[in-house]
Amino acid sequence: MRIGFGFDAHRLVAGRPLILGGCRIPYDRGLEGYSDGDALAHAVIDAVLGAAALGDCGSRFPAGDPRYAGADSMKLLRQASDLVRQAHFSLNNVDCTIVADQPALAAHLASMRTAVAKTLGIDLARCSVKAKRTEGLGFTGRSEGVAAYVIAALDES
Ligand code: MG
Repeated sequence: MRIGFGFDAHRLVAGRPLILGGCRIPYDRGLEGYSDGDALAHAVIDAVLGAAALGDCGSRFPAGDPRYAGADSMKLLRQASDLVRQAHFSLNNVDCTIVADQPALAAHLASMRTAVAKTLGIDLARCSVKAKRTEGLGFTGRSEGVAAYVIAALDES
């Protein structure tokens, strides 16, 4: 069995849609980024690639490469999960925590969970998506950005 860890954070800025786990979240700002800024998808990519020691999101899908300008990060997640399977691993489970004081994410957790599980090709029971607040502390507490932490477990197949 292999364990991988992923982290990402993006700044909240005006004039962008807020996309997390491939889901559009209603809010007056969105995540800055070369791609769609989906910090959850990027952290899942880092976790699954990390578990297989296959690099990370930034090395596989570099910012500045026109192929990834405005990219749908869930498509990149699908590519990352394909790479992991090609390396003879199967995905056991992922556990995700999004950190944001604003916007409230509780109403969107089920949609994000379904989207991440579907993109990874795993059962819903093997995919967890949670949200936490930092109660005013730090950049997430000031609603300057959103962070995501993910662990993934792979089995050698
Ligand atoms: Mg990122």
